[in-house]
Amino acid sequence: MDLRRWLVGSHDYAWIVDHHSMRSLRSSIRAVFAANTLLMAVCSALLLRSPDGPQGTAERTIALLMMGLQAVAIVLIAVAPIPTTQRQARNYFVGFAVFGDVGLAVILVLYSPVVHAIGCALFVINSALCTYFVSSRWLLAHLTWSAAVIAYALWRVQHADLFDPYALAAGGLVLFAAVCGVPVAAHIAWNRLSIDAQQSLVDPLTGLRNRRGIEVSVELLWERASRDGLALAAVVVDIDDFKRVNDTHGHVAGDDVLRSLARRMRDILGGDAVAGRTGGEEFTVVLCGTPHEVMRFVDLLPRRLTDAGDAVPVTVSVGATIIGAPRDHEFPDALEAAMRDADTRMYAAKRAGGGQSSTAEI
Ligand code: GH3
Ligand code: MG
Ligand code: MG
Repeated sequence: MDLRRWLVGSHDYAWIVDHHSMRSLRSSIRAVFAANTLLMAVCSALLLRSPDGPQGTAERTIALLMMGLQAVAIVLIAVAPIPTTQRQARNYFVGFAVFGDVGLAVILVLYSPVVHAIGCALFVINSALCTYFVSSRWLLAHLTWSAAVIAYALWRVQHADLFDPYALAAGGLVLFAAVCGVPVAAHIAWNRLSIDAQQSLVDPLTGLRNRRGIEVSVELLWERASRDGLALAAVVVDIDDFKRVNDTHGHVAGDDVLRSLARRMRDILGGDAVAGRTGGEEFTVVLCGTPHEVMRFVDLLPRRLTDAGDAVPVTVSVGATIIGAPRDHEFPDALEAAMRDADTRMYAAKRAGGGQSSTAEI
């Protein structure tokens, strides 16, 4: 894995909670975050009663204040759902990591040097969370911060003359290795895997989803249409006589046609649709909206996806089956049946001369 790409590449914060295989983990993630915060609060409470804990009034007040903030954080983690948009997910995960790191450092410096050093082991938990949830840049920021707090702890221990320098050096190495050693390698591996998982759902030629990508995305659309009382349309688009395009203009020109059709598809579809290339020159769209919107969209599709003025002009045949009330049907059986019906209609449109659509409602 290219280290530079790992370091500067964009980080998909939403993927980890929005990917189909991860959705079921959302409540576990919240439980882990809450347990982590609770662990820190319990340790703080125990140390309030210890001679190694915070001693002066100011120190004890700060410790109590931190415990109050931790209690608020636990409640927020428990009641607020994990956000799934990129920006909000970033704020959520980075916010949690920063709160954990800063809070831990503020508390640790109130303790005796040895407890400060031992407490630095708690950074391991933050390292694990950063490995999974934040970008490489934020992970490195966390590691730098942790290393600085550990170094300060070791300096305090050394200053108090509690250990011989060799034992201190050995202990310090163990702390650095535990907190900073594993996360970078684990983050690189996890990052690679997540990129592969995301790419496995995308058609490399057009950037649209592939068949599997559509399968994993339509469920949310179905849920939305059922909840909001919208219609859902299964649409199949096939380029007419595409073999002739390849035979006449060459495969590269054929690829350009596929890419430009995909680009138009992306331009005209909003967030209420899922589109993919599901065959060589065949595309599938699932979209939701009012029955009128969906019907009109399908009617216009053959014209909006093509342009007679293109260098290599093509026409498309479109078959669509509209499920008027998804909430009255079973997922995924009804959608699969609608797909099959749309495919049959697409061939009917093609037999009728191509460049047109055939739509039915069930
Ligand atoms: P019809 O109007 O009946 O759909 O005829 P058609 O020629 O479009 O369909 P057919 O199934 O006979 O041929 C599809 C062609 O699509 C054959 C294949 O070479 C071409 N094709 C499939 N995938 C790609 C691709 O990724 N790039 C290019 N350039 N061509 C492709
Ligand atoms: Mg075709
Ligand atoms: Mg075809």
